[in-house]
Amino acid sequence: MISFDLKCSHHHVFEAWFRSSADFELQQAEGLLLCPTCGDQKIAKSVMAPAVATKGNRKTAARQGAAGSSEEAVPVAAMSGDDAERINALMTALAEAQAKMIGDSEWVGDRFADKARAIYYGEAEPRIIHGTANPEQTREMLDEGLPVAPLLIPIAPPDKTH
Ligand SMILES: [Zn+2]
Repeated sequence: MISFDLKCSHHHVFEAWFRSSADFELQQAEGLLLCPTCGDQKIAKSVMAPAVATKGNRKTAARQGAAGSSEEAVPVAAMSGDDAERINALMTALAEAQAKMIGDSEWVGDRFADKARAIYYGEAEPRIIHGTANPEQTREMLDEGLPVAPLLIPIAPPDKTH
């Protein structure tokens, strides 16, 4: 879905949603678009940027906003495309490191706290495990000195992947 700011010939500006830019053009060509204020059928795209912008457009919008443009402010995320790419690369590296770490680790699900304690206190075979723990359990384990760490990337429990 994409939203456009549309304008009738009487300068009423309104927002409308379309499946695509082509969908808008089709509805415009067939005269299906009406101004909600006056019923005018002469509808054109307003000069404002579409709410769903491509990466390139978003940058332009951000730059216009920063330059103190007199246009109505378009909300944009305070992140440039370059930063997004860097964060994506970081997240990918992080996910790979995590996958490597838990690759030969045993999934123990919500029994993590019990299993971690058993291993830590020598009641179970030493091995790397991963599973789920609530914040309270995590705090208790850390207080007891268990070497636990939160997984930075959410993973799908193996029993839920099929
Ligand atoms: Zn109108």
